[in-house]
Amino acid sequence: MRSVQVIVIGGGASGMMAAITARRCGAGVLLLEKKENLGKKILATGNGKCNFTNTMQSPECYFSSRKDFPWSVVKKFNWQDSVSWFQEIGILPRDRDGYLYPLSGQAASVVHALERELRRLGVQVHTGEEVLAVQRHNKNGAKGFAVTTDRGEYLAGKIVLSTGGMASPVHGSTGDGYRFAQGLGHHLSAPVPALTSLVLEGNFMKAWSGVRIQGKVSLYGDLKDGGRGQLQKDVSKKEGSSRKGKFLAAARGEIQMVSYGISGIPVFQVSRFAARELERDRKPVLYLDSLPDYGEEWIAAELLRRRQRDGMQSMGDLLEGMLPDKLAGVLLRQSGIKTAAAAEGISKERIEKLAAVIKGMRLSVKAASGFEKAQVTAGGVCVDEVDPDTMESLCCRGLYLTGELLDVDGTCGGYNLQWAWATGYLAGIGCSGGRLQKGGRL
Ligand SMILES: Cc1cc2nc3c(=O)[nH]c(=O)nc-3n(C[C@H](O)[C@H](O)[C@H](O)COP(=O)(O)OP(=O)(O)OC[C@H]3O[C@@H](n4cnc5c(N)ncnc54)[C@H](O)[C@@H]3O)c2cc1C
Repeated sequence: MRSVQVIVIGGGASGMMAAITARRCGAGVLLLEKKENLGKKILATGNGKCNFTNTMQSPECYFSSRKDFPWSVVKKFNWQDSVSWFQEIGILPRDRDGYLYPLSGQAASVVHALERELRRLGVQVHTGEEVLAVQRHNKNGAKGFAVTTDRGEYLAGKIVLSTGGMASPVHGSTGDGYRFAQGLGHHLSAPVPALTSLVLEGNFMKAWSGVRIQGKVSLYGDLKDGGRGQLQKDVSKKEGSSRKGKFLAAARGEIQMVSYGISGIPVFQVSRFAARELERDRKPVLYLDSLPDYGEEWIAAELLRRRQRDGMQSMGDLLEGMLPDKLAGVLLRQSGIKTAAAAEGISKERIEKLAAVIKGMRLSVKAASGFEKAQVTAGGVCVDEVDPDTMESLCCRGLYLTGELLDVDGTCGGYNLQWAWATGYLAGIGCSGGRLQKGGRL
């Protein structure tokens, strides 16, 4: 049985960062990765371009059951630290409205730079080796961990668990780390898919499939929590007619209509809240604002003006130039109006109702698309049980936890990788007994 000072389990973003940092601090490190190659998920990030961090950082960009935890970690290794850390190993940043990518435009260059650094430092890397079990080990007074893989057994003084969550299991993250962490005394906040599309109730979605608009989605929970949630009587006339339920989240940008529901970055951003509601057996409702730059009253007045100008045109024609045809058809049907009906036959009240539907079409969310489609996991190992200075477990000394495995998820835009770099860095220092210098650099 081989003995190693530190074993890092999982060669993804946070694991590679932890292994490099621990080695730089002088520790002997073995990195175990079950896939044939390191960093498979990094290759898929940012559509193959790797949005590796973001210059706009605030506590609101990160979510956790313990609200202050993510920021207390990210503050210690922030986006500037990520940029200079990667610059040191050859990755120059490209800034696109605050979203940072490698200047090469290739995620592969990030993975290759990390691999070269692991090699340069002499980190032992075993790919294609799956960890099956991790147990506490205490023989002859020597405390540590026994790690069983599909190839053999190792003893380690310290363990860094960097196995990711459950999102996108094709890239290797299948939730193994939850089992290992629970076995060592940790608890979980139920993992749910996040940054994913939403499946809607109803059978109208085939009619809008393929449409893309600049819109806004607002998510509301139901009041099954015994009425504790605040009732959100809407907001302003600009937002649409009154909506019932507890306001959870809203986002704006390019929305994509698909045959099973709704997708696009704004939907991704609110999906974690929808998935959590559904996991608690509540039914979230999404309101789609198809014309976020215009108020409901203005839209109603404009439709009435169009009707008065040419009453013989169809209701479909009335909406032309305002909304894509397919979406207009769905909104009309939702308002109980036939697309072919002559505008002059539609009452003012019906037109006002149509304006309200344009501003807030009510969509019942059936499900969040599963982990296969999700970019991240919300939930995970409870962060109450982790030291935010070192990422060391408070339940099991010598165990360190990083990245998506923890109950932290970021918004879309480089925040999840920033979380992976920050936690990997702190764990690397923690497990090797290194010292964090001012400004977060070694
Ligand atoms: C399609 C897609 C696009 C994304 N785009 C972005 C983006 O542009 N910007 C951003 O910030 N975030 C993005 N993310 C999210 C980001 O990639 C992850 O949050 C981040 O990679 C998590 O890092 P991690 O180290 O925690 O886990 P992972 O990167 O998932 O790594 C975990 C590693 O552990 C290995 N492993 C698991 N179990 C075992 C075991 N038993 N034995 C050995 N090895 C094991 C896995 O094979 C894997 O390599 C994206 C995610 C996806 C799926």
